[in-house]
Amino acid sequence: MSLDTSTLYLVATLVAALLGAMLLFFGRQENIPALKWWGAAYVLGASSIAISTLTNSLLIQQLSLSLNAVGFAACGMVWGAARVFHGRSPNLPGIVLGAFVWLAALSLLAPITPAMRMTIGAAIVAVYAALTASELLTERRKAMKRRWPSFIVPVLHGFVLMLPILLGDYFRGDDERFADSVWATIFAIELVLYAVGTVFVIFMLVSERTVRAHKAAASLDPLTGIFNRRGFAEATARMIEREADAGRPVTVLIFDIDHFKSINDRFGHPAGDDVLCRFAGVITNTLRITDLCGRIGGEEFAALLPCSMEEALLAAERVREAFATSGIVIAETPVDTTVSIGVAGGPVGTELDVLLAAADTALYQAKRGGRNRVQSASEEPVSLEQGRLAIAGQPAHAA
Ligand code: GH3
Ligand code: MG
Ligand code: MG
Repeated sequence: MSLDTSTLYLVATLVAALLGAMLLFFGRQENIPALKWWGAAYVLGASSIAISTLTNSLLIQQLSLSLNAVGFAACGMVWGAARVFHGRSPNLPGIVLGAFVWLAALSLLAPITPAMRMTIGAAIVAVYAALTASELLTERRKAMKRRWPSFIVPVLHGFVLMLPILLGDYFRGDDERFADSVWATIFAIELVLYAVGTVFVIFMLVSERTVRAHKAAASLDPLTGIFNRRGFAEATARMIEREADAGRPVTVLIFDIDHFKSINDRFGHPAGDDVLCRFAGVITNTLRITDLCGRIGGEEFAALLPCSMEEALLAAERVREAFATSGIVIAETPVDTTVSIGVAGGPVGTELDVLLAAADTALYQAKRGGRNRVQSASEEPVSLEQGRLAIAGQPAHAA
């Protein structure tokens, strides 16, 4: 089988241009800046190959070689796109540096041999491929198992480009023209595979990010930005399991703002919402970073603390005091805001629902006791598992 190099490059150019147009279109539609960068890089890269092939065939070789600089800038833009994707700013001097190195090499090393050209060109592209790969690698190492293609694709690309350099004269042999045409064919095929592979990676990353964003949105309360009931239940289930494995206790706090209805009635619903946000701020700022907080109902919040009941009671008291002295002013009127708190701990591994029910009973007692107070559950709740064992006639607290 004989492969015509010009046809291959034409195909590579068309594929890259088409993928670039698709990325640009999708990036505009979904408003994802990184996709616009990637798309623009592809279109620029494709145009650069097309124009430099055209000028080459018109025998304006010097111009054709200089125009390759645009292609190197396109490689830089792929790296820029990876940075933008991770919320970083594109490194503009870095993006155009490859192009300048190329132009400098053309003028300083003139007359430049085809072998030198290839070595320098491949090295520039390989450096950008390595930068892109490292950019994709450093982000979220935890998820790397599923994201290995985002690293492998640019690494393989760089590797293929470096092959003629690594192998040096070994492959070149006597027939230099023949060796060059073999490499040109390999590069053209690799270009198509790389372009397609990268787009696959891009869409994999974008879809993973979209799923993550939807998941986060489903577990967060839009008003206060902390966990909603669902997110709180999921996060606490993990913490309860982890602490139970380590044999450590956890304690649940339920907060219910006192006479909240009257705040709404006097100042309106938006002012009530504001107080809810302020309270969410009070608990997140007062509790530790390792404690989990969520809004589990209208004006009810909960927290799970990886500590004993005694320590949790101190934390609850701090929250109560912080809220009572937070000095909330609505419509230039200082408003007394207080909160009642129910606290419950249980044997290691007690389920969230059981702890919440016990804390809720304690909260009810706090309300009956006059509000603005912390009340601990009078007796340790029995976990569902131990409750079942107790019913079956076995000791409830058997280890
Ligand atoms: P108590 O001291 O017994 O807890 O009295 P309370 O007024 O706080 O309790 P009650 O359960 O009677 O009222 C809760 C109020 O919270 C009623 C409801 O309109 C209001 N509420 C629930 N969700 C929201 C919300 O998202 N925003 C606002 N502004 N108000 C809310
Ligand atoms: Mg309530
Ligand atoms: Mg209330």
